[in-house]
Amino acid sequence: MESYATFLAGLVALLVGLAAGKAWERYKLQEGRWIDRRRARESPHYILGLNSMVAGQLDRAIGELAEAARLQPDALEIELILGNLFREKGQVGRAITIHQQLLQRPKLTRLEHAYILLCLGLDYKRGGFVDRAHEAFSEVLRFEPQNPYALMNLQKLHEEQHQWQQAHEIRQRLVALSGEADQARNRQILAFIENELGRDQVKRGEPAAAVAHFDAALDLDARNVPAYLNLGDARMAQGKTAEAAQAWERVTEVAPERAYLAFDRLESLYRSQHAQDRFQALCRRLIAANPKDWRAHLALARSITAEGRTADALELLFEALSHSPHALTIHQDIWQALVASGLDPARISRYTELTRQSVFYLDPHICQRCHYRSTELLWQCPHCHEWDTFVEDRIAPAQDVPPPDDASVPAAPA
Ligand SMILES: [Zn+2]
Repeated sequence: MESYATFLAGLVALLVGLAAGKAWERYKLQEGRWIDRRRARESPHYILGLNSMVAGQLDRAIGELAEAARLQPDALEIELILGNLFREKGQVGRAITIHQQLLQRPKLTRLEHAYILLCLGLDYKRGGFVDRAHEAFSEVLRFEPQNPYALMNLQKLHEEQHQWQQAHEIRQRLVALSGEADQARNRQILAFIENELGRDQVKRGEPAAAVAHFDAALDLDARNVPAYLNLGDARMAQGKTAEAAQAWERVTEVAPERAYLAFDRLESLYRSQHAQDRFQALCRRLIAANPKDWRAHLALARSITAEGRTADALELLFEALSHSPHALTIHQDIWQALVASGLDPARISRYTELTRQSVFYLDPHICQRCHYRSTELLWQCPHCHEWDTFVEDRIAPAQDVPPPDDASVPAAPA
């Protein structure tokens, strides 16, 4: 997130720099004043400031650029970057002051005006002033109706406030602007927003309208797992069990690694139809396709435990444990099965052997974009707000680590 913001700031500064450079040259001639521009160009502060910024040394960058700005008080882009650097450092008040002062300058071009407002919007957003940020980004669009940064930030603001309809409209404007290469990702994001619109309709008690949104989401992206899950739920609420089953079963086909999200729903539906074997067959298919699918092992074990086949279930659980030694839920099921099977010493010692290296985690997931950690699968990251970035964090025991033979290494407390 931080590096992305820095990149954005750099890009903005570059664009403004190009425009400001040209405008500045013209103003000098128009006003007939003579300023030795070479003084600023020959000073190393501007370049040093930019280099420090690229290296992530914010304090140094601020020092150099402040000096460059002193030598060249008319250069708008230097002040603009300075403001952005203060925002990056968390000094939002200072960033706002600098950018507001820039807005007061006479003879701003449309482009300059738009980009100062964009920076101000980012300041407000960072400071949590949602309404002001909204106003600033909207005003950027009055100057430049197709400014992608303003559109993107407005979309995120709407998403954060769960204003899905507005987020959807803005996303469609971005879709219209973006090139062929971005269209697949655009459709994925639109599908997530459609899915949220459907959830809103569910909350309003409008299942038919909700179904239309979930269908629209799946038209956009046939791999959108939450839309299948919600579509099945809505169909179920309408009493259409066959369609519900169809929607949930599709999850296991299009995204087998996330099939487990439909397990509880399918298991209870099949059970109500006295067709438990359908669920077990589904688990076996998943295991055959991916023998390391510990969630399918676990689900199958639970299903056959319910039939009283504890010993078979325990075998499946041990198998699951060998693929995911840290998943707490497997251990819990094993403890239950061990108790149910009368605490057989041979099985207990097998379990002890398998778990020697285990550390327990409650279903760890991680955002691939910002590395935010969560104990469950999330569709939108609460930290970087990106869609569909979470993957299961596979934590395996370290391989072949020799035991420490250095006597200075303190022993772990017993
Ligand atoms: Zn993230």
